[in-house]
Amino acid sequence: MEHPRKLLEQHAIHPKKSLGQNFLFDDSLLHKIVASADLDPADHVLEIGPGVGALTGVLAQAAARVVAVELDNRLLPLLHEQLAPYPHVELHHADILDLNPSDLFDRPYAAVANVPYYITGAIMRHLLSNKPMRPKRIVFTVQKEVAERMTAPVGKMSLLAVSTQFYGTASIVSHISAGAFWPKPKVASSIVRVDVSEQPPVNEKLFFRLAKAGFSQKRKQLKNNLRALQLGDDVIAENMAAVDIDGRRRAETLSVPEWRALTAQFATLVG
Ligand code: SAM
Repeated sequence: MEHPRKLLEQHAIHPKKSLGQNFLFDDSLLHKIVASADLDPADHVLEIGPGVGALTGVLAQAAARVVAVELDNRLLPLLHEQLAPYPHVELHHADILDLNPSDLFDRPYAAVANVPYYITGAIMRHLLSNKPMRPKRIVFTVQKEVAERMTAPVGKMSLLAVSTQFYGTASIVSHISAGAFWPKPKVASSIVRVDVSEQPPVNEKLFFRLAKAGFSQKRKQLKNNLRALQLGDDVIAENMAAVDIDGRRRAETLSVPEWRALTAQFATLVG
């Protein structure tokens, strides 16, 4: 694969910062990303933002079908050219946030991408809260700091950690220095993997309502933040105690199973 700078020059394209265009050009890293997705040759894969097709080519060698969604129309001719040897790669010119990923697949799929950092959170929510089909696994290159927040342990939880870990097990595969990208971004990156689990039933909407309220003022005790639910203080205290959660705790100390228990407990009180 040619260096992305060369490929873009040949097509007279300048990378757009506004679209998060930092291209990975290290072959061994591209292979590492794909290897960490543990793909089966029969797997179907969604790639968001194929760019110049470097990761797409490696994915195409590991999967039965790759659906790549690219927003920048300037890249489409280049992508068609680069990916011509792989008829099982489908290119879509679209904003991933405007597509329903479930419409693109007829079976559980893996999502593998070097995502545009300006919408990492939105993409995660878009895929993970998708109905009827979530990806079975996500392997994304994201900002290192975001990867660390997504995978944070109990005691250092944030709304991002709870929202990610609600859907599965998140881990950092490895860190990537900024110099592995062209143009070089300001921040370091990490490969993060989320193994999406089958969800024990819980009211998802209420779960996130509680978590958002809980984290609304980080320094406040949970029982105070939960006043946003507009239940009386006594009712809040009683129902927290019923699931063994001390109201004086801060949201960052609650595990996902505790948020789940809280959700189940409050489900009868709030709609
Ligand atoms: N996959 C390439 C690589 O690994 O070098 C490029 C990754 S670059 C960080 C992010 C890519 O996402 C760019 O090609 C950018 O144009 C594309 N992109 C940005 N916003 C997008 C969106 N909303 N939907 C789909 N693609 C988007």
